Amino acid sequence: LFDQVPAVPPDGTFALVEAYRADDHHLKVNLTPGIYRDENAKPWVLPSVKQARAALLADQSLNHDILPQLGHTQFLSAARQLAFKDTLDGRFVTSIQTISGTGANHFIASLLASHLHPKAVWIPDPTWDNHQGIWRHVDPGIERRTYPYYDENTFGIDGDALLSTLREQANPGDAIILHACAHNPTGVDPSPELWEGIAQVCEEKGLFPIFDLAYQGFATGDVDNDAWAVRHFTTRSSGNNNNNNTPLEFAVAQSFSKSFGLYSERVGALHVVARTRDGAAKVDGVLKRISRAEITSMPAFGARIVAAVLHDPVLEAQWRQDLKTMSGRLASMRKRLYEELVRRGTPGRWGHVLTDIGMFSMTGLSPEKVAAIKDRFHVYLLPNGRLSFTGLTEGNVEYVAESIYQIVVH
Ligand code: PMP
Repeated sequence: LFDQVPAVPPDGTFALVEAYRADDHHLKVNLTPGIYRDENAKPWVLPSVKQARAALLADQSLNHDILPQLGHTQFLSAARQLAFKDTLDGRFVTSIQTISGTGANHFIASLLASHLHPKAVWIPDPTWDNHQGIWRHVDPGIERRTYPYYDENTFGIDGDALLSTLREQANPGDAIILHACAHNPTGVDPSPELWEGIAQVCEEKGLFPIFDLAYQGFATGDVDNDAWAVRHFTTRSSGNNNNNNTPLEFAVAQSFSKSFGLYSERVGALHVVARTRDGAAKVDGVLKRISRAEITSMPAFGARIVAAVLHDPVLEAQWRQDLKTMSGRLASMRKRLYEELVRRGTPGRWGHVLTDIGMFSMTGLSPEKVAAIKDRFHVYLLPNGRLSFTGLTEGNVEYVAESIYQIVVH
């Protein structure tokens, strides 16, 4: 029976992690995962999370009853506040807990695919690999089209190409995925002017924006700055924007993996912003039905931790500090790698390493060079040349810079 099942190649990212584990070279460096590591390249439990977790574990009255259908109530209110703050006046929002950011992306794809039938979903080129995977899995009949994003020559965004492609080729009702901040894999985010242009195209063409909010706090170290684009879409579409377009309806797929370091707990939320109360109520019903069929009820532990942190001013202040610790370490590693590359006279332009945002930068190394740096130096990058600064430390940054130098010149 199963002989007829297609042979599926292994997932590239997970395969690289396995290859790294199996590599016994003493200088090996893993620069592939978007998972924060501390100054010793070890997993880091945020101090705010540690405190909230300890209090939960000490609470003898804690039980394991099933959560409400939409998820942990205090978690959801905190998640919504984090994404939108006070920009929701006059909007109707449905929020549901999800299996992390992946689950939030999956739920919105399922909702659109089953009820609104977009002809296409527009995905930035490049993007997080799983955007393609999720949409292919949910409905292979929906075209997965890419819009130009990254310009390899300028290490920036080709905003004109982005806007003109959507203007000329997108159809009303199509969905479009937007990274809310700290774009994966490029580390380059739209300027406020470009965000405004994107919002206008979405309105003109009747597109449905899906914000993927996976790195709030990792772009600037400040959760409010990092939610600017989401909140801009909310306020410009609330009727305060002096334009005559119909207010946008859109979704936010929110992950707490990175911002709370809760990768294995799978904590996320999906928020759908609707134009009418009736629309929001219907979304509520459909999402509950999807969730019931797929999961029945969300896991509680990670959501309890997030709720405990965000509903306690002292813990919340600690958490904001923790975000600064993480984003600060990444920024200092950017500086160190840049210095070491320039000190060696490494051919190429490296200034973007300093100005890119979040966990990642594109090195510009070809897939062949990426394979070569792994084979010769045991330094692991993604095949598209993405380098994750999370794996860099004071102890390995010189070795990594020297490896890049050697690979570029030979
Ligand atoms: N969106 C983007 C852009 C990501 O990079 C990731 C994680 N790599 C996710 C969503 C989802 O991650 P998770 O399911 O762990 O929240």
